[in-house]
Amino acid sequence: MSIPATNGPLEVRGAPSAPVIPPHNAPPYFHVLVKPTGAACNLNCAYCFFLSKEALYPGSRFRMADGLLETYIRQYIESQRTDLVTIAWQGGEPALMGLDFFKRSVECATKYARPGMRIEYTIQTNGILLNDAWCAFFREHSFLVGLSIDGPRPLHDAYRVDKGGGPTFDKAMAAARLLQKHQVDFNILTTVHAANADHPLDVYRFMRDELGVQWVQFIPIVERVNADGRTLLQEGQTVTGRSVTPDQWGQFLIAIFDEWMRRDVGRMYITLFEAALASWLGGPPALCIFAETCGNALAVEHNGDVYACDHFVEPKHLLGNIQERHLSELVASDQQRRFGAAKQDTLPQYCRECKVHFACHGECPKNRFLATPDGAPGLNYLCAGYKAFFTHVDRPMRVMAQLYRSGRAPAEIVHVVAAEEARLKAASAKASRNDPCPCGSGRKSKQCHGKRHPSS
Ligand code: SF4
Ligand code: SF4
Repeated sequence: MSIPATNGPLEVRGAPSAPVIPPHNAPPYFHVLVKPTGAACNLNCAYCFFLSKEALYPGSRFRMADGLLETYIRQYIESQRTDLVTIAWQGGEPALMGLDFFKRSVECATKYARPGMRIEYTIQTNGILLNDAWCAFFREHSFLVGLSIDGPRPLHDAYRVDKGGGPTFDKAMAAARLLQKHQVDFNILTTVHAANADHPLDVYRFMRDELGVQWVQFIPIVERVNADGRTLLQEGQTVTGRSVTPDQWGQFLIAIFDEWMRRDVGRMYITLFEAALASWLGGPPALCIFAETCGNALAVEHNGDVYACDHFVEPKHLLGNIQERHLSELVASDQQRRFGAAKQDTLPQYCRECKVHFACHGECPKNRFLATPDGAPGLNYLCAGYKAFFTHVDRPMRVMAQLYRSGRAPAEIVHVVAAEEARLKAASAKASRNDPCPCGSGRKSKQCHGKRHPSS
């Protein structure tokens, strides 16, 4: 899959190491997900968009060679003009490389780190192979581990199955307990799909009360069906039955947000909610999906091929190979800069005029395959869900942003909400069933906050 270098490579593998000055138009820092085993995995999750990528490398063993590992780490560190560098491993299942591979990766990073540079490590895993040795290593080197669990047993096992189609819940839970035993920092990555989308509180309470984790990332499953019936490429206007619907996605987030806001702000960290708060504070987007442009989150395959993004590991988004062109050149290439700018350039007018555009920015281009009501292409499949969610959270987000700006903790919203609800309860106790609800919703009291009033 490698393409030849087309103009002056900065360096090639085996060249004597000399200071590398990234091209002037390269971003000062960027994120890379490295896939040392490519798409190879020890599970067979039904919705996995990456398993099918094996078709891009027929006959490959899907193992990153040691020499390439060193080339990658060196180039990545050379490309970063910051003192904090994050080396991120993903798959497939990266743990299939074996623990020694990751020990060598830490040795390489230590060798190439510049004075004063701090290296952080992250790894996304299904947890199946984790044991005491892995967890002790993660703890020793402060890895942040992302563990994939989709909720309580039946919701998790609906699609997260092994190669024989068997359940994997117990193994994922065992991994979580091992990580906790070794005090490894970890978060849960939960995909939201047809099986768990209608059970938001079951999923959320399971994470909080049974798993006992604080960091959770929800990812919507949107599997586009290609013309040949496969899901290999980001093409096609229809989605599989495993995909979450836009309304489900919005209601899933809203239900969890409401519970989070009433009791868990400052104790549970939901990546998407934190990102939304950053938008309401006017700060830079905390997730690439909500940024105006793309281009600074690439993927590196097991053979050194570099792609525009983890979600676009497809031939037409191949930038080159780090054995032929330096990573900083590839990230600065016209092809990658065009890819990044396209997110903004192709945003439909409908989105530009949307009230929650500042928080959504049309979300990820991979999901933009609908037409707007006026027929323009490029509307996000999840639009209805995001619009409902961002509209629903507007007021509490404003309150949290105001608390933050006045030097108080956004978590104080828990008390603000409790006081408001107490006031409403008292007011609706006095209102008759057919009066307008004191909350101002425009509905009758009996259909709103007066629903549970003893006289209703
Ligand atoms: S394509 Fe999507 S996932 Fe990739 S950088 Fe852009 S917004 Fe992020
Ligand atoms: S909510 Fe919908 S219309 Fe608004 S910016 Fe997002 S995708 Fe576009």
